[in-house]
Amino acid sequence: MTIKRNVLLNPGPATTTDTVKMAQVVPDICPREKEFAGMMKQLRADLLRVAHAPAEKYTSVLFCGSGTINIDICLNSLLPAGKKVLVVNNGAYSSRAVEVCQYYGLPHVDLKSSVFELPDLNAVEQALSGNPDVAVVYTTHHETGTGILNPIRQIGEMAHRHGAVFVVDTTSSLGMIPFDMERDNVDFCMASAQKGIMAMAGLSFIIGNEAEIRKSKDYPRRSYYCNLFLQYDFFERTGEMHFTPPVQTIYATIQALKEYFEVGEAEKFARHRRVIDAIHNGLAAMGLREAIRRDIQSGLVASVLYPDDEHWNFERVHDYCYERGFTIYPGKISTTNTFRLCALGTIDVPDIEDFFVVLREAFEKYGIAVPAKYT
Ligand SMILES: *Cc1c(COP(=O)(O)O)cnc(C)c1O
Repeated sequence: MTIKRNVLLNPGPATTTDTVKMAQVVPDICPREKEFAGMMKQLRADLLRVAHAPAEKYTSVLFCGSGTINIDICLNSLLPAGKKVLVVNNGAYSSRAVEVCQYYGLPHVDLKSSVFELPDLNAVEQALSGNPDVAVVYTTHHETGTGILNPIRQIGEMAHRHGAVFVVDTTSSLGMIPFDMERDNVDFCMASAQKGIMAMAGLSFIIGNEAEIRKSKDYPRRSYYCNLFLQYDFFERTGEMHFTPPVQTIYATIQALKEYFEVGEAEKFARHRRVIDAIHNGLAAMGLREAIRRDIQSGLVASVLYPDDEHWNFERVHDYCYERGFTIYPGKISTTNTFRLCALGTIDVPDIEDFFVVLREAFEKYGIAVPAKYT
């Protein structure tokens, strides 16, 4: 069987290998069988290795859902009664965390700052000093909306100095950018299988400090399906997910992790870097400008400013590329028009070179100037 290969330049789900796709085609199995529980046990252990989280102190808990389920679960489950969340917010994903706080009515401080810059660490320190009832500090490692990489190690150090747990959305960085649970001062991180691990959508996981999860048993229970302790406890007692797991996605994730460790972290990270370098070079060659300074970028997402060209039309350019197997993605900056090119997935430099051939064709076809015009 041959499967058409698409180059996904959107910020996840990412291009996968055929072996990962095919890993989903398995005999039917009831996930309550011991065989399946054994597979999940190994999967949970392997996820700890991806985050460099020692098994003596950390555990991973699996959920059926897209990555946002992790944001929901961490916030609603880890806040003790009478305490506050501090969200260090410089982008769309931390804003999503603020929305979760609003939906659950969780007391929170939204420390909002420019989406074009790193958060101001002095402001974080002041917010912590001014709000001694903050029990959870939350931020996003890689703000996928812009491509900014946030200084989590420093924020985590502050959180711990003020006695708070540090929860980080690492959905678009884990398995792609060096990360170390302990050294980065992170108590809880999260991701979904379709991003750094390059498996399929539908499985998400939280890696966290086991003692903190146990403590959260007595925190207010704000959700039934999305409670961290309940799911953790069920895994500990039975080795299973509380409710039906995404069976085929789990098979794909196991295969993807096997490939992750075979390639090795260093080689995989190096590949992501050369892909983003090829993206930067291709953009520069067409005179296309980026919205975010290079020195604060993650190395996984380029936010490209729309050219000031009367012929520019994102939809048409998108469709032209899409029909030829390349998916580009709109930006997520409310004040500036951008589109994104991302270096996730099992793609390499030749894919990017092929993409820029197609992008140039699209510009030519629709009369968009190269080099791109900016006023
Ligand atoms: C992709 C992503 C998520 C999850 O998004 P879903 O659409 O729910 O999978 C969360 N946080 C970040 C930073 C992401 O990039």
